Amino acid sequence: MARTGAAEHSQEYDAIVVGAGWAGMYVLHRMNRLGLRTVVLERGDDVGGTWYWNGYPGARCDVPSLVYSYSFDDALQQEWTWSERYARQPEIERYAQHVADRFDLRRHIVFGTTVVSAVYDEATRTWTTTTSAGVEYRSGTVVMATGAFSTPVLPDLPGLESFEGTVVHTAQWPRAGLDVDGKRAAVVGTGSSGMQAATALARSDVAELHVVQRTPNFSVPLGNGRIDEAEVAAHKRRYAEHRAAFRRHGTIFEPILDPTSTADLDDVAFEARFREAVHVRGGLEILRMFPDLLLDAAGNERIAERLRAEIARRVRDPEVAAALTPRGYALGSRRIVVEDGYYEIFDRPNVRLVDVRRTPVEVTRDGMRTSAGTVGLDVVVAATGFDSGSGALRRIEVVGRDGVTLAQRWAAGPRTYLGLTVHGFPNLFVLAGPGSPSIRSQMMDSIEQHVEWLVELLAHMRERELHVVECGRAAEDAWTDAVAEAAAATLLVRDETQYVGANVPGKPRVYAAYVGGTPRYRAICDAVAAGGYPGLRFSGASGERTSARNVAPVLEELRTPSSVGVI
Ligand code: NAP
Repeated sequence: MARTGAAEHSQEYDAIVVGAGWAGMYVLHRMNRLGLRTVVLERGDDVGGTWYWNGYPGARCDVPSLVYSYSFDDALQQEWTWSERYARQPEIERYAQHVADRFDLRRHIVFGTTVVSAVYDEATRTWTTTTSAGVEYRSGTVVMATGAFSTPVLPDLPGLESFEGTVVHTAQWPRAGLDVDGKRAAVVGTGSSGMQAATALARSDVAELHVVQRTPNFSVPLGNGRIDEAEVAAHKRRYAEHRAAFRRHGTIFEPILDPTSTADLDDVAFEARFREAVHVRGGLEILRMFPDLLLDAAGNERIAERLRAEIARRVRDPEVAAALTPRGYALGSRRIVVEDGYYEIFDRPNVRLVDVRRTPVEVTRDGMRTSAGTVGLDVVVAATGFDSGSGALRRIEVVGRDGVTLAQRWAAGPRTYLGLTVHGFPNLFVLAGPGSPSIRSQMMDSIEQHVEWLVELLAHMRERELHVVECGRAAEDAWTDAVAEAAAATLLVRDETQYVGANVPGKPRVYAAYVGGTPRYRAICDAVAAGGYPGLRFSGASGERTSARNVAPVLEELRTPSSVGVI
């Protein structure tokens, strides 16, 4: 549905945006307001990005719905009412569609269109963006809003290609749905997607469910529920205040100011805080109630051990409980999963845990073989994650100045200035990508911040008749070092996770998200804008102009993280 005829032939635009998820929609809206002729190219047949593709059973957001929404338009946030504390995928997708309608975005979006390349021509200072259908779009600016979790990865299970039943990735769920009633299904992968899908499938009329686990994840109860009218009304009255508090602290709750480290809390205080975090607030508040969780190994292990005890309490069979218990990596280095009855599914007679570390799995024509025997399968659900962060960008042939590709520039890992720009790629911008808080932040908030910063930069250029902007190599080096330094100060870099690229063969092992905290990141970006854009080089009709100020002092002032701003 929703296909438009916005641009069926070669056309000239001020800007091409790739992707119509949250970032693409908002940047389109802002560029329209700026009077820039913009078109968005989108692979799916409608808006929503992540929430368009991930229609698997049980898909739900782990950020509270009152927070996980656009804040840029008060009328929008006043008129939309979320039904649950944590919204399900269909409701979030409806919200995305509502935003598209409300701001009349669809007529600027070409759906069902996959971008294969974007090539810069220095002589004309123009990008040519080409789709898989061979249609070319020319523009002065290209904005990559391609998403951080948009390139699904299938499991490397031997024999999978020979399976004659249905194989479906959670992020490529059929739009028409998939009937599993009476079928024998396996869910491979136990990250957020896998645990949500397995919980929902176990509660459906599936005949058998085999949960194929490689690394057990840490998880906390979601604490979901309906939001009653009075609560919604109260929140809406103070929306601006809540949004401002979130930006300051990264939480909608009052921050914990107690300086005692987790490891030093006495048992009573520790237990009280644990209960408040896990059983009262629920969800990812644990990260904020234990602010040193990702900084101090002893405190981290103390909380981890307490979470392990929860699993032992909730799963009847001690052997299954032991297999579900995460060990050997830091709590939070993988994203902590929020679950809603996951552990209890293993008490059902038709649900079985398959621990591939103990019993390797081989997929056959009609099922799978393990050391415990053979089971027949009709459906394999791959909940095996993504080539995250840079994956979507690396799959587009992005060619900058002098014929250098982005893949070449990023061969050893992403290099950016503020996560927004790349040296050698003039007028190319990346929203919520590597080098920014992105996948370790509240995405909606990060996206709004990026878009607003970018639109301000474009307005700055227009006022001064500057046509081209590119970051200097020194600024890019300094920022890339700052990103690495922030990660190195945490426990996040120690483990083999998707965040360091460990789930994709050949991907450089780099912690690519900026984890110095979103308030700090915002302050850095604001300081760069206020300071006349140190680190960026501009050129216009009257020649080249390099920003007078060096970027080093801005970064130096703000680089050492005092807390970690991740979710
Ligand atoms: P993920 O976190 O990368 O999890 C992938 C899972 O697949 C891991 O458990 C991985 O195990 C497993 N796996 C990979 N290959 C396997 C194999 N051959 N055999 C068995 N297991 C295998 O992916 P995701 O769950 O889709 O999540 C991706 C991101 O989206 C995360 O940041 C997540 O938090 C986010 N997300 C959020 C929500 C939400 O808001 N509630 C929902 C879904 C996703 P290893 O750990 O051993 O590699």
